[in-house]
Amino acid sequence: MEKITMTTPLVEMDGDEMTRILWKMIKDELLLPFIDLKTEYYDLGLKHRDETDDQVTVDASNATKKYGVAVKCATITPNAARVEEYGLKKMYKSPNGTIRAILDGTVFRAPIIVKGIEPNVKTWEKPITIARHAYGDVYRATEMKIDGPGKVELVYTRADGSEERALVHEFDGPGVVQGQHNLLSSIESFARSCFTFALEKKQDLWFATKDTISKKYDHTFKDVFADLYEKEYKQKFEQAGITYFYTLIDDAVARVMKSHGGFIWACKNYDGDVMSDMLSSAFGSLAMMTSVLVSPQGYYEFEAAHGTVQRHYYKYLKGEETSTNSVATIFAWSGALRKRGQMDGLPDLVRFADALEKATIETIESGKMTGDLALITTLPNPTKLNSKDFILAIRENLEKELG
Ligand code: NAP
Ligand code: MG
Repeated sequence: MEKITMTTPLVEMDGDEMTRILWKMIKDELLLPFIDLKTEYYDLGLKHRDETDDQVTVDASNATKKYGVAVKCATITPNAARVEEYGLKKMYKSPNGTIRAILDGTVFRAPIIVKGIEPNVKTWEKPITIARHAYGDVYRATEMKIDGPGKVELVYTRADGSEERALVHEFDGPGVVQGQHNLLSSIESFARSCFTFALEKKQDLWFATKDTISKKYDHTFKDVFADLYEKEYKQKFEQAGITYFYTLIDDAVARVMKSHGGFIWACKNYDGDVMSDMLSSAFGSLAMMTSVLVSPQGYYEFEAAHGTVQRHYYKYLKGEETSTNSVATIFAWSGALRKRGQMDGLPDLVRFADALEKATIETIESGKMTGDLALITTLPNPTKLNSKDFILAIRENLEKELG
């Protein structure tokens, strides 16, 4: 069989531990035999990040701006234990944080639906994609403990020296305060990413805040979305037959629980943090979630939602058998290849991405799966495969799929 050709390279960001082992298996068994794979390779493994003083993460992010599409393996975010384990020069920042700061965008996470891994919420027939704003609010808040009676105010000193003040509270005893902020530019790019993604997926977009209580802060989010929708997206949404729907966050939560799924749920930073963990566990597992960072300029970075699966890696190092789920990493590759194919007008590459996903889902639905899924499946007598054999089983289906 002739290999599928590519015209523009994908930015390939290699990573750490068990996911780095899976990364190579996926390339060797599921990609290289079928595609004349073109990538610009960046090693984001912790050792190489340390050797380059983390410059490699910056270079990989800039390459993503140049080529438009990246695929990333899970990486270690170092803590004190990792600094010692790897003898690091310093405690580097989270690679995902660095990439997000350079690309600026929104993270979209969606469950991968297969028969036999049933959501806990019976009505959810289609995936629900969470779009999480990744800047500001409580994550960039300034806090203070108040030790006794006194007045707390917000003071805004303009660049010209003029002042605006608002009373927070007249304390007559001890308490706590918190100051949050966000940026109009960041809220706008969040909104833009969500509208663009909804159009691309042809799915309704939901957005919710607590604007009835937070009449300036949350209301600004609501207004930014509404204005942008009216000005730039309303017509496009109508043409695509999809809707933009705004409601209060508590109403949204109630509606999500009763919904059939199949929409994109835009969430402020904190809501997205909390709700994405609720959705992923209710849909089955973090290893069955796709994750893509979409920048307002239309750059894409695909990855798995889970970490480097450290516990499995140490078993692997000891020569013990592992059964690590590679589905999210496979879907990061298929997502990136499909996007590359769409951008470059390469229908064969798009078809390959579809076939790879189909083969992966068919493998699980035929009862062959990794240990994490075997524990929760509703299929009778599942076969638990090790990490390598699961990928080989997918390869068998992929070969059939591609004829
Ligand atoms: P983790 O790698 O997601 O794994 C936590 C546990 O979840 C595993 O021990 C395993 O449970 C289960 N699990 C996760 N992914 C799995 C998979 N693909 N197949 C089977 N089981 C899976 O989280 P962590 O152990 O807390 O973090 C390890 C490292 O990953 C950390 O250094 C962290 O910084 C990094 N991290 C990276 C990213 C990223 O790059 N996107 C995200 C999160 C964390 P059992 O052990 O019970 O089998
Ligand atoms: Mg969280």
